Amino acid sequence: MNFNTKLIHGNHKVDETGATNIPIYLSNAFAHNSAEKLENIMLGKSMGFAYTRISNPTVNSFERRIASIEGGLMATSAASGMSAIYLAIMNIVESGDEIIASSGLYGGTYTLIRNLKSYGISVKFLDNINEKTLNDNITEKTKLVFAETIGNPKMDVLDIDEVSKACKDNNVILIVDSTITTPYLINPLKHGVDVVIHSTSKYINGTSNSIGGIIVDGGSDKYKHMKFKNFSEFNKFGKMAFTAKLKATIGRDLGPALSPVNAFLNLTGVETLGLRMREHCKNAQIVAEYLESSDKISKVNYPGLKSSAYYNIAQKYYKSGASGILTFRLSSKENCFKFINQLELIYNLTNIGDTKTIIIHPGSTICAGNTEEEKEQMGVYEDLLRLSVGIEDVEDIISDIENALKAI
Ligand SMILES: *Cc1c(COP(=O)(O)O)cnc(C)c1O
Repeated sequence: MNFNTKLIHGNHKVDETGATNIPIYLSNAFAHNSAEKLENIMLGKSMGFAYTRISNPTVNSFERRIASIEGGLMATSAASGMSAIYLAIMNIVESGDEIIASSGLYGGTYTLIRNLKSYGISVKFLDNINEKTLNDNITEKTKLVFAETIGNPKMDVLDIDEVSKACKDNNVILIVDSTITTPYLINPLKHGVDVVIHSTSKYINGTSNSIGGIIVDGGSDKYKHMKFKNFSEFNKFGKMAFTAKLKATIGRDLGPALSPVNAFLNLTGVETLGLRMREHCKNAQIVAEYLESSDKISKVNYPGLKSSAYYNIAQKYYKSGASGILTFRLSSKENCFKFINQLELIYNLTNIGDTKTIIIHPGSTICAGNTEEEKEQMGVYEDLLRLSVGIEDVEDIISDIENALKAI
């Protein structure tokens, strides 16, 4: 099956009712006619459902659909992108371990990882994650490298092949957040990444009607290495050790389950991911070129622009487009605010990956809790705006921008 067909039919069989959409199973628990059957389900010895915090038919269908389009062995959903990231990281590290993370991460992830210090987990944030910086910074205690395919809002592009090779050579797990790029643009698992995360609240859901996250396990032999002592009792699950541990330990302990209603909304939304991403990429490229041509804008950051330091890497990995997010600089915070206040079509809110075009001034909002030094590392300046380009007719997006630029 090809990509768009998988979005609609991947890992799905019509049930005996003939319903073409997957039903929403709003039931916390599932009854079984024998004690043995429930015992086997609870022990993971046979397939079935027991309790929705652990597993639910609608949620399971969504997980199988994402695993199918991402090329993963298995996917585990969570109540939000943040909880997916937290589960995936804490499934791997223990007190005394080290994490290496990109400094260009989404603000919430940056703060989450920084705050792991209080659990005895140390973190090195690197401005550039590549083979050399990894080889220089990985120690015996390093268990995990965390990066984004395209950094939000730094707009830096990860050279996935190079980074996954360095992680393989050093026996370190590589987790990549592909929220911005989605399975339409890249399947990081095919490039040697161990675990892929998405905030499904963004492009996967598509219309911002439900918060959610997902962890896709590509399978790895790295957990067998003696460094990962915490995996020893899960190595009997072979390549599935990561998911087996996740489901038996932190996933169950913390319990941030995705609601079956949200799983249904995501299943509906993801059917049009290919169509939407094509338009997001096309519109973002046009808007980026338009912004770059304006003398009021000092810098536009979009990996699809030749002026981007990441243009060549983006051309290598993102032949179908560089996604829908870009940032640009308007010389002062005052200009940014004036510009936002003049916009009529474009929403000023904290979100990305919606069908609607969205703008935000990251410095005063999503990154307000970060220090000046952290903001600088994240590529967030006082005069920076982030635009998530929607799938409206691009003439209307540009006309709104053109009009607002007149106020500056
Ligand atoms: C939004 C976002 C998150 C967090 O996801 P939520 O669903 O809002 O919890 C993580 N990573 C990236 C890249 C994001 O854009």
